[in-house]
Amino acid sequence: MRIGFVPAAEPVSRLIEELAKLPGIGPKSAARLAYYLLRMPEAEARALAEAIIAVKDKTVLCSSCQNITDSDPCTICTSEERDHSIICVVMEPLDILALERTGRHKGLYHVLHGVLSPMDGIGPEDLKIKELVERIKTGSVKEVILATNPNLEGEATAMYIHKLLAPLGVWLTRLARGLPVGGDLEYADEVTLTHALEGRTEM
Ligand SMILES: [Zn+2]
Repeated sequence: MRIGFVPAAEPVSRLIEELAKLPGIGPKSAARLAYYLLRMPEAEARALAEAIIAVKDKTVLCSSCQNITDSDPCTICTSEERDHSIICVVMEPLDILALERTGRHKGLYHVLHGVLSPMDGIGPEDLKIKELVERIKTGSVKEVILATNPNLEGEATAMYIHKLLAPLGVWLTRLARGLPVGGDLEYADEVTLTHALEGRTEM
């Protein structure tokens, strides 16, 4: 007689199921992680669970730049050391981290939270484009750096925004070539990103 398949205890299989929803985590990795967490000291496991809850409970989007923040407006938008006349437009909050690592952008940011992608049904109204236009309309911004990724969708998004902002009399620039084509800003090294930022060209 064959011994039947014994499933993991319900809380364990539930954890495996949730972990498997994370990007890059397949069912096997999810199971390995679940058993790792199970053996973790209680305090560490609680700290992890609380950190997950805190990012959901204690963060909002900055009403100005749309970056994720725990204070609105965020610390970049309220900084007096930054140049409020320059806005660098990025796709994701992670792009801000990459650009901040270079230490070369002294202006503010605007996070679109995605990229135009008609194939995936993502149109302008799904991105924070309206909010960007409103910021530019206040008249205090002189330059907008379009720092979307150097791939098809990133270029199309930059062109779309260029068309919207050009009549508002703002100087529009694009990061210099040199970023790997098709690559993500997020993964570009600091030297490449610094060159791209310093060699930016008018669109
Ligand atoms: Zn902000």
